[in-house]
Amino acid sequence: MKLGKFSIGLGDRFSHQGVAQLRAIVKANQSGLDICPVWNKSNREHIYVHSHPADVRKEADAAVAKLGFVGKYFVDADHINLSTVAPFVATADFFTLDVASFIGKESSPEDVNAFVASCANYIGDLKVPGIGHPLVVTDELLRKIASKFLAATKQAAEIYTFLKEEKGAENFVTEVSMDEVESPQTPVELLFILKMLADKGVPVQTIAPKFTGRFNKGVDYTGDLDQFAKEFEEDVLVLDYCVKEFGLPAEIKLSVHSGSDKFSIYPIMAAVILKHDKGLHVKTAGTTWLEEVIGLAVAGGDGLVLAKQIYANSLGRKDELCAPYADVIDIDESKLPSVVEVNSWSSDKFANTLRHIPGHPDYNPNFRQLIHVAYKVAAELGVTYTSLLDKYADVVGACVEENIYDRHLKRLFNL
Ligand SMILES: [Zn+2]
Repeated sequence: MKLGKFSIGLGDRFSHQGVAQLRAIVKANQSGLDICPVWNKSNREHIYVHSHPADVRKEADAAVAKLGFVGKYFVDADHINLSTVAPFVATADFFTLDVASFIGKESSPEDVNAFVASCANYIGDLKVPGIGHPLVVTDELLRKIASKFLAATKQAAEIYTFLKEEKGAENFVTEVSMDEVESPQTPVELLFILKMLADKGVPVQTIAPKFTGRFNKGVDYTGDLDQFAKEFEEDVLVLDYCVKEFGLPAEIKLSVHSGSDKFSIYPIMAAVILKHDKGLHVKTAGTTWLEEVIGLAVAGGDGLVLAKQIYANSLGRKDELCAPYADVIDIDESKLPSVVEVNSWSSDKFANTLRHIPGHPDYNPNFRQLIHVAYKVAAELGVTYTSLLDKYADVVGACVEENIYDRHLKRLFNL
């Protein structure tokens, strides 16, 4: 099964926005693109909102049927490992093998030696076409890379083998993710990680490295844009090299996780993939949930009341809600408005504070990040929350569509 050249990962915490999300893709594809939607949900999200992997398949199929979408689409078992994959097997056809926790785990000296020996040809100045400087490969570097990544790639191979037996090799797309770690992988590390995956027969179609800089949830990228641009382009060229050198799938591409809202790097990525005629997968998850809260606020009345209640609850439980996301949010507590203040806000003021329009005088990224991690609060509200999503489906859906199309796809694909 082959993923298309351009694909976007869509997350939908409460399974109400599949059609609105797909409308955004359809709109983008009307200008000649062929973007594949991939509905993704991780085990952690399923636990928080009490949903089941089969629900994501149902939602995706229903959205596709409703809009008569004829392109390819997928359902991604996001960030699974051997202990969490089982419930996803029947209904997912895209699997993100998360091996980050195996990075740095010890491998046997025999395995390390065998890997280093298999790289003899690459020792010295390794020239990757398109990269202006040689990658300096030494025996020492190879040993370092092996001790860091061999166990992780072995784990990827084990999960892949399990899935191959369960589903058949032709029936799913394989992504390997290493993004949820502290230090970014360098292009030369990526090159040898891909060699390891190729050696072990993992037909990886997308790989999610940890990039340089911060990818905080729901807000823009922070980091050195020049450095990001350099690394991103080198990564793309490394992928190309690995296809030719190691026989990886020709369509292999980078997957950018926590990819929603990273507006300042979208033009950089767009330029690089255009320049090298490459594909891209951008994974988003929580940005749609934020649009639900914005939509409820815009709807006014009981919608606005509930949006304010969600904020009040979130502020009261800030530490608990932020704890699991400590590495991927940066909230300045002194910039969070009080509950009393927020309760006095109009629909517009609430929506403008939450909506991601950099430079808008009301936009508050601290407020936004807190709501981002607070979907558990809405999950606990149960039907009180989802019945308002139904009641204001038109307003909320319009917000979801506008966010994906206008703020994301237009910037990513130069529309
Ligand atoms: Zn990820």
